[in-house]
Amino acid sequence: MYNLLNIRMSLLEEAQGRERPSDNNINKVYNSILELVGNTPLVRLNKIPQQYGLTCEIYAKCEFMNPGGSIKDRIGLAMVQNAKKSGIVNDSTRFVEPTSGNTGIGIAMNAVLTDTKCTILTGEKNSSEKVSTMRLLGAEVISVKGDEIEAAKQMQRENPETIVMLNQFENMVNPMSHFETTGTEILCALDKVDMIVLGAGTGGTLSGVSLRLKQKYPGCIVVAAEPDGSILFDPCADEHPFLVEGVGGTWAPEVLDRSIVDHVEVITDQESFLTARELARKEGLLCGGSSGTAMCAAIKAAKTLNFGRGKRIVVILPDGIRNYMTKFVTDQWMEAHLFMDPPKHTMKWWNKP
Ligand code: PMP
Repeated sequence: MYNLLNIRMSLLEEAQGRERPSDNNINKVYNSILELVGNTPLVRLNKIPQQYGLTCEIYAKCEFMNPGGSIKDRIGLAMVQNAKKSGIVNDSTRFVEPTSGNTGIGIAMNAVLTDTKCTILTGEKNSSEKVSTMRLLGAEVISVKGDEIEAAKQMQRENPETIVMLNQFENMVNPMSHFETTGTEILCALDKVDMIVLGAGTGGTLSGVSLRLKQKYPGCIVVAAEPDGSILFDPCADEHPFLVEGVGGTWAPEVLDRSIVDHVEVITDQESFLTARELARKEGLLCGGSSGTAMCAAIKAAKTLNFGRGKRIVVILPDGIRNYMTKFVTDQWMEAHLFMDPPKHTMKWWNKP
């Protein structure tokens, strides 16, 4: 007869016999949350490639696992550290940064730990979830109608003594941090990469990761995932507003190296959001809209470029679902934007007999 003590003893023996967890992080304590930026997992996709008739391997780099919820935690940390090293940060410093939100979260997280003030300038289209997160981290958030980069530069010109603009669009620490961390992590985890698929906002991820991968595997194909309406990669394309956040634009930032791109896939808002939802439904990956853009581009590129068995694709999933809880995550939002048909059945009610 088993009693509680027997069960406990057998679990204990089993646990002692098992190998220690291979991930060192499990047995570690950290001095601050910033030590957990980066080192994100690469997860193999199972159902999605099969569903699209693809025999190549697809791996997702899960950047939503960063502590602030996005890939931009990496540059928040690297740009703040670099600014401190160069001696431009003091007790009266205020960081001022134009951002679609995720870099703002990354910078604000650094600012909160060093008691530095922080003002974030963001466009009206960006989600209230990101704005609330930045405010919770103590940042002042200003919604800008026009050009938020120009607004930030003007603030700095008016107050050069106190305001430090890290300027992710021009700061080479942005692509360098992806070269050194994101790209290197992919190379450490996989013994070959045939294709890398990523979107571009500043272009820092694309430039840094692609350069690192091509350095080791010159034949690695770089696929840019471009939102329909953006003209980052084709200035002659039809420019129009689009809803996916964090990627695309109307001009090429200094940190974007377009010459490294081998292939471009243009993805509509509907494709982006449906694919992001599919990543949750089929693979359990709770990622944001631009992850859907990248994933959809990967599926299309794999087909166009005939990627078959033995080929390996890495897709960057830049942020997580929690930035978009009031947006594409809900059926109602998808239906209101005509990305999904309204439900065929009306609500079912249960009546007490
Ligand atoms: N996706 C999301 C959700 C983002 O916030 C960003 C950053 N703007 C990107 C993708 C693109 O990253 P990068 O700026 O490195 O091009």
